[in-house]
Amino acid sequence: MATNTTASPTGTRLPRDEDHPLIFERGAAGASAAWLPPSDVPCVDPAFAFGEDAVDTAGPEIPEIGEMDLVRHYTRLAQRLFSVDANFYPLGSCTMKYNPRVNERAAAMPGFARLHPYQDEADVQGILELFHRLRLALQEISGLAEVTLQPAAGAQGEMTGLMIINAYHRSRGENRVKVLTPDSAHGTNPATCTICGRQACTVKSGADGRVDLKDLRDQVDEQTAALMITNPNTVGVFDEQIAEIAKIVHARGAQLYLDGANMNALLGIAKPASFGVDAMHFNTHKTFSTPHGGGGPGAGPVGVAEHLRPFLPVPQIVRRENGTYGWDEDRPKSIGKVRSFYGQSGVLVRAYTYIRALGGDGLRDVAEKAVLSANYLAARLRHRFEMPFPPPYAHEFIMVPRFAGSDVTETDIAKRLIDFGIHPPTMSWPIHHCLMVEPTETESLDTLDRFVAAMLTIADEIENDPERVRTAPHTQPVRRVDEVSAARKPNVRWRPQ
Ligand SMILES: *Cc1c(COP(=O)(O)O)cnc(C)c1O
Repeated sequence: MATNTTASPTGTRLPRDEDHPLIFERGAAGASAAWLPPSDVPCVDPAFAFGEDAVDTAGPEIPEIGEMDLVRHYTRLAQRLFSVDANFYPLGSCTMKYNPRVNERAAAMPGFARLHPYQDEADVQGILELFHRLRLALQEISGLAEVTLQPAAGAQGEMTGLMIINAYHRSRGENRVKVLTPDSAHGTNPATCTICGRQACTVKSGADGRVDLKDLRDQVDEQTAALMITNPNTVGVFDEQIAEIAKIVHARGAQLYLDGANMNALLGIAKPASFGVDAMHFNTHKTFSTPHGGGGPGAGPVGVAEHLRPFLPVPQIVRRENGTYGWDEDRPKSIGKVRSFYGQSGVLVRAYTYIRALGGDGLRDVAEKAVLSANYLAARLRHRFEMPFPPPYAHEFIMVPRFAGSDVTETDIAKRLIDFGIHPPTMSWPIHHCLMVEPTETESLDTLDRFVAAMLTIADEIENDPERVRTAPHTQPVRRVDEVSAARKPNVRWRPQ
């Protein structure tokens, strides 16, 4: 984290708030926030146990600090963070919605939180029933025949889905090597194709952001395993040609895979199975309000149509005829296990809680409000910011800030938004120089209006005081960092001076 380093990746010192030194610079020898009782087991001489060389008489150089100072140090650091709990976070494609506290309460219940995956099925019927109910809920939402909860992220769901599709083709004596992805696809889609040993081929989009059907027809052939499509896609457009797309793909024996990471515009409105989807994944950490960021944990359940069921991972959660719940391992055509144990159980408890708290009508309401919020923002900003694709939008939209004679970039605008207490939108993807805005359904009208006001202020500044935008942020402990070096030569380790 940039605020916690003494030197930037290029070696120059970052401006640092001298009142808040690093943890290594605080405390005093002998101070401690921990107290260990004297050992009541015989002590083995470490030199005897591990050899003389293993004994470091100087001890490790770690901070020595009292409990109160320790708490204050981390509380201050936490206050410097951007978070969904503290700030509007319109990070497109990431669906940074509010994570309801009731989810945490359910996940912390000892009957869920204190389990061990090696416990007997008979002793953990509660969580197994929850898994089964979640499985059924996701089947209902997708319209697909069967769902596995095992994958631990969206990208792993994609991989699982494509492995299932590959196994299906192999079972028919075919080895299809190509996977098509539209040019607006999330980076994980082509990466998944490569990791599954397939060749990713790009399908063009038209000026309206929809798939170019002629290019699709030209490219799909008997070598094509699947088309991986995101719909609504990453430019925020719902491709209503999707049933036609499914027909084109199926006519060549290929499968239609939906990247359903973000189902915020579809929940309760359209079931992917009804527009021809054969397999898809969900991201619980986007659509179903489980915590998101810091690399996880997330969950990426995968749903498949009837003909792909035999290939799902094992073990599968099932309800047995006697009414108990358990794991089914007996699936001879299964692709096997994709994750240790049974998936991200704590995350799955949160996703189930969210679905049950809202109910069917509530989920539809989520989709309607997410779409309304995105279109409201777009409608209020259109007169100042260029939007390359025509409305209506789904849950997100894209703008390409172009101001006559100005060299202010999308990065400058994103950095300036930080001064207004707003997290930068997604930038420069899926098209050059764009900002991708996704407000989600959980923001109040007041917050949406605050965002509009900030964007319009920035538009005025670009015309009248561009330097102010170009040098933002002005209100943060760390201003501009050298982002290329930070990405290519990250240096996040503290060393004594
Ligand atoms: C977030 C996202 C993914 C990847 O999900 P992870 O859980 O981060 O692996 C894939 N596709 C789309 C469209 C996404 O927005």
